[in-house]
Amino acid sequence: MTDSDTNAAIQALLRPNIRSLTPYSSARDDFGGDAEVWLDANENATSPLGLQGMNRYPSTRHQELRETLSHIYGVADSDIFAGHGSDEAIDLLMRAFCTPGEHRVLSLAPSYGMYQVSATINDLSYDEVQLAPDFTIDLDALIHALTPSTRITCICSPNNPSGNTFSSAAIERLLNSFDGLVVVDEAYIDFAPEDSVLSLHPKYSRLVILRTFSKAWGLAGLRLGTAIAHPAVIRALYAIKPPYNLNNPTLDISDQLVEKQQQVRERVKEIIDERERMAIELDKLNFVQQVYPSKANFLLVQVTKAQAVYKHLLRHGIVVRDRSRLPGCENCLRFTIGSYEENERLLNALSLFTP
Ligand SMILES: *Cc1c(COP(=O)(O)O)cnc(C)c1O
Repeated sequence: MTDSDTNAAIQALLRPNIRSLTPYSSARDDFGGDAEVWLDANENATSPLGLQGMNRYPSTRHQELRETLSHIYGVADSDIFAGHGSDEAIDLLMRAFCTPGEHRVLSLAPSYGMYQVSATINDLSYDEVQLAPDFTIDLDALIHALTPSTRITCICSPNNPSGNTFSSAAIERLLNSFDGLVVVDEAYIDFAPEDSVLSLHPKYSRLVILRTFSKAWGLAGLRLGTAIAHPAVIRALYAIKPPYNLNNPTLDISDQLVEKQQQVRERVKEIIDERERMAIELDKLNFVQQVYPSKANFLLVQVTKAQAVYKHLLRHGIVVRDRSRLPGCENCLRFTIGSYEENERLLNALSLFTP
């Protein structure tokens, strides 16, 4: 396929009203140059609250941040969308590429709940294919579940809440099995970088990879997530996003990200070490049936009575995630790996549980 063929194929996937949309153009988009006096955006010339710089609107195209992200991911800045968390990218992808009441979204079960919520908000039917009891994927079943109306397939890898990853070969087979977008949510990939599908990005224009700064980078409160895809997909997301989706503090942090990569890697290693220690300790408890292997910063643990354990932990001031109502997660709790002290408190409280 030539570049123009690829662009045309992506254009054809866009919702017709989005294909013909003239995006909102902010004051700063209209005037792209530099100046000394800015009287174009009805801002306040000073900050009465003394918050320097907050009186100015943030950048809409995030050029500086995208250059930083380009450096971190090793992909062109034209292939990166920066969003208000990766949850924003999930919603924007559905809005740009799916027609309400007509198209369908396909995912796996159990998986991240936002795919279904975003699909429902956008009035898209949601289909899911159950993972095997050990959470491996039945690719034939997934491909069988594709319909002519399926526009987006969401695969979370490492999967939340099961913690396992899916292979690049599986993602490639899916990409070759239908014409829509394959979204691979790599929110936890910093804990298993060897399992990323990023190397497929140059080859597949319909592959969208989601990353976030909320987990390994410890910036959940900042709200910064990204989508990596073909420039035609990224242009569509920039065309429909709210103009000022990222705020100044988020954009200002970009010059710190590259130099902090080593600290992030060290923290990731600590979390992984703690995860493996916790897996061994949890396995020793008599009411623990199974600790599922995890490539993320959490452990999915099957116990004899999830509700009772959950309530017991609450009485000790510890809140974990009860996943027992999800299909395939009967009696499962999800424990985030905390600090050493927090993990010790969890183990201590669990040791006091009488089944
Ligand atoms: C936490 C999480 C996200 C979150 O992203 P934000 O960038 O904080 O919006 C996305 N996907 C999965 C699977 C997650 O677990």
